[in-house]
Amino acid sequence: MKDKNTIGDIIKVLEQYAPVPYQESYDNSGLQTGSADDEVKGVLLTLDCTEAVIDEAKAKGCNLIVAHHPVIFKGLKSLTGRSYVERTIIKAIQNNIAIYASHTNLDSVHNGVNAKIAEKLKLQNIRMLSSKPHTLMQLAFFVPVENTDEVLAAIHKAGAGQIGEYSDCSFQVQGTGRFLPSEQADPTIGEKGKPEQVQENRVEVIFPAFKQQRIMQALLEAHPYEEVAHFLTLLENSNQEVGIGMIGELETPMAEQDFLDYLKEHMQLPGVRYTPVSDKKIKRVAVCGGSGSFLIKDALRQGADAYVTADLKYHEFFDAEGRLLIADIGHYESEVFTKEIFYDTISKNFTNFAVYLSEVNTNPIRYTY
Ligand SMILES: [Zn+2]
Repeated sequence: MKDKNTIGDIIKVLEQYAPVPYQESYDNSGLQTGSADDEVKGVLLTLDCTEAVIDEAKAKGCNLIVAHHPVIFKGLKSLTGRSYVERTIIKAIQNNIAIYASHTNLDSVHNGVNAKIAEKLKLQNIRMLSSKPHTLMQLAFFVPVENTDEVLAAIHKAGAGQIGEYSDCSFQVQGTGRFLPSEQADPTIGEKGKPEQVQENRVEVIFPAFKQQRIMQALLEAHPYEEVAHFLTLLENSNQEVGIGMIGELETPMAEQDFLDYLKEHMQLPGVRYTPVSDKKIKRVAVCGGSGSFLIKDALRQGADAYVTADLKYHEFFDAEGRLLIADIGHYESEVFTKEIFYDTISKNFTNFAVYLSEVNTNPIRYTY
C-alpha cells in the first residue's frame, strides 16, 4: 500500500464497486469539484452534499466528500451563490474540497443501496427486483493452441470471465483454422500467397458490456495474429449483478402491523406512510431506496407481500390494488445508510487517512405528529 493516496485512487476503488456506466442516462455521478491528482487528507461520507457538510469537512480536515446524491445534477449556468447548490460548490472550491458522487450506479449494483436496505431488514435470499437488460456481452475468438493461455490471461486481467463468485471463466474447443495470406499480409504463421492451416482453439467468455473496449484492446495486444478472428455478441441474459430494487424474504413471516413496527425500528424511522393493512402475513419484501414508484408492478409480479420505498404520490398508493402493503419510509431514511457502503469500501482498501461518516442531518423534511 502506498503511504500517500490521491483522490483518483479512492475514485478507482469506488468505481470498481459501482461502475459509472451503470448510472441512469439522466444522472451525473463522478467527480464534481476538485482534482483527482490531489493527495487525500481525509474523507467525509454523506448522503447529500450541502454547505453544512462542506463546513463539517473543513472542521474534520477532509478534502474529499463522497456523496450519494450529486449536488450538481441539473447543470449549472452560473456560479453566483444564488442557490444552495451554487453556494455549496463555491464553498467547496474555495476550501479546496473535492466532491465525488456515486448515485444511480450505486443503486444499480447488487451490493449497493438496496442490498444495504435488505441487510438492515435482515432479508434472505436477496435478488434483483428488476435486472438491467443488455449489460452482458459474449466474445468468441480463435487463437493458436499454444498461445491460448497467454491471451486468456490478458483478457481475464481486463475483466473478462467474471461470473458471480467465479473468476477466469472460459470455454474452449479445438479445431482447424484455415487462411490464405495476401501478398501485402504479414502472417505470424505461414507464408504470403500460400494456404495455411493451424490448430486453434475457439475460446468463449462473458463480460460486462461496458468493459468491451478494454477487453478488445487486451485481446488484440496479446494475440499473435495480424488479423484476429472474433465475434462479439450483446446478450439477452439477465444479469443478477446489475438492476434496480431488490427482493428477498424475512426469516419468519410477520403480521402487517408488526412489520411496520419492525421497519420503524430497523430503518430508524420517525414515521411511515402505508396502504391499509390486512390480516395477511408479510414474508416476501421488495425494496427500492429513493423514488421507487416505478417498481410497484415488478414488486406485484414477483409476489412481494410488502414494498418498501419512498417518494410515492397519492395515486400511486392505489397501485397496491389491495395485494401489497406499500410502505413509504422517506427518501432520506431509505438511503441514509448508504454512507456505510462508502465507509466499508474505502476503509477496506486504505488505512493511511481518516474516513468519517457525516453527522449532519441533511434531510430537508421534518415531521410532526
Ligand atoms: Zn436518492
